Amino acid sequence: MSRHFSYVVILNLIGLAPLATDSSVWSSPPATKGINATCAGEWAWHKELIMDKRDSLYNAITGREKSQRCNDRCGREITLLKDRLAGLDKIIRIIHMLEKSDDEYILRPAHKAEGSLSYDTHKKCIVLTVGSTANFIHEITHAAQYEAGEIIFDATLDKSYLQDLYDEVEAYQAQFAYDPSSVAALIAGSVARSPEQITTQWVAGLQSSDGEKTYQEHSRIRVNIHSKKATLLQAYPQFENQFKSWADDWTMKEAPGIIYKKQTLTFTDYLGYSQVLR
Ligand SMILES: [Zn+2]
Repeated sequence: MSRHFSYVVILNLIGLAPLATDSSVWSSPPATKGINATCAGEWAWHKELIMDKRDSLYNAITGREKSQRCNDRCGREITLLKDRLAGLDKIIRIIHMLEKSDDEYILRPAHKAEGSLSYDTHKKCIVLTVGSTANFIHEITHAAQYEAGEIIFDATLDKSYLQDLYDEVEAYQAQFAYDPSSVAALIAGSVARSPEQITTQWVAGLQSSDGEKTYQEHSRIRVNIHSKKATLLQAYPQFENQFKSWADDWTMKEAPGIIYKKQTLTFTDYLGYSQVLR
């Protein structure tokens, strides 16, 4: 997920009177389907690498479980491998879901180590800018979060909103399942050696090579399209004045010019977001 979350933009956005005046910008674009054909080959390539990794983890678990000499350390390795296997199973479900989405997704090459998820306001499609397969996994996890109503896009600007540290925990845990070294290579307060060690505190400690905290602008509490005024105030206390005029039951869906997923039920149930959204 791009960390270039603009508070200036959200300030303007939230400052606008939250009244529905143009229904065309309120919902996701209809009629587009799944993965854009121009990147089907690259999509399939990442998918195959993930399937192969899943098979190799499964075989590694089976091999250790059969071993007569499996000690405590071996037992811990099996636990970690099983955690990673579960993570890859979830990623494979996400891949299948995105392939059937009523939104269109397109892959573009990342010119930096960091990928991003954005909305192409002209082509009306969601852009996954990715490099490695670990990177691909991170960004499609954010895509699933869009499908589940955890994040939203601006209809006219290259911006996304409602990111929180929990979204990044999930994305880095998914990335870890495929390639732990890609997570260990990051500059953090500590090296994450298991998915459980990837916490909101760990994400908050990530920094760029020049020492800037990567996710300092992300909300520290969980927010999504159902978050009401009180939650948004907690997430973005610096915008108290902008939220003041809101009714208590308004959410970011009431802001104009927002792209959000209306039909989240299938994804939320499938990915286990249901409790979060209720
Ligand atoms: Zn991210």
